[in-house]
Amino acid sequence: VGHNNEVLRVEGLAKHFGGLKAVDGVSFTVKRGSVHALIGPNGSGKTTTLNVLSGIYTPTAGKMVLDGTDVSNLPPHRRTIAGLGRTFQNIRLFRSMTAVENVIIGAEHPGNPVGKAHHALDARARAALAFVGLGDRADEMVTSFSYGHQRLIEIARALAGNPTLLLLDEPAAGLNSTEKVELTGLLKRIAAKGLTILIIDHDMTLVSDVAEHITVLNFGRRIADGDPVSVLNHPDVVTAYLGS
Ligand code: ADP
Repeated sequence: VGHNNEVLRVEGLAKHFGGLKAVDGVSFTVKRGSVHALIGPNGSGKTTTLNVLSGIYTPTAGKMVLDGTDVSNLPPHRRTIAGLGRTFQNIRLFRSMTAVENVIIGAEHPGNPVGKAHHALDARARAALAFVGLGDRADEMVTSFSYGHQRLIEIARALAGNPTLLLLDEPAAGLNSTEKVELTGLLKRIAAKGLTILIIDHDMTLVSDVAEHITVLNFGRRIADGDPVSVLNHPDVVTAYLGS
């Protein structure tokens, strides 16, 4: 249970690769129940930030507090238990398994209040698939789904884990325009349930459609932070995108 309005607080986060400051002292907070987007041109540090947040990389400096707990030094699986769910830029489903078998993997962690009985996990996974609109295809092999639907299965897998904060890494990448519309609708339904989402994308249309708060990175630094209208009209943001 959260004791305040902040699901995530990121303070002075940095990740250097040798001399390259991929993320260079970034701070922002994600409000409970909000859809928050982290955007920026290619190479601005979005994916690196996400990988530090999910524990794949250790930060060079800074900290992150998830729902009141400092998770800066926890490995990825402990962050999952603490309430962090995520999807990846490249689809990471097990191709020899069905949709529901893949989603059960996301439900299966000790932090999930659903428990560990197979029938409970199976029910949770099927509910997540139904939520993303694929409930009647739960027992089909993952390979029989379109690319866009495989992305939805990934989101279902993250949702099945009952996350407090859902991190989405470029969920619109590779989707056609129909699939993008479907994805936008799904993100709005997730938000309507009160779940907090941090979405990383460079698709401005998608982001301005779903996000109520935007943080913009450029060269590893935060150049703007606020509501979509003010952020997308910010001169530094306009310049950063024109130059990319
Ligand atoms: P974005 O997701 O915004 O496109 P990235 O976080 O992927 O940006 O990359 C930020 C910068 O860090 C880029 O200059 C990229 O080349 C560099 N970078 C990312 N990952 C690594 C790595 N593992 N080793 C060295 N440099 C990296």
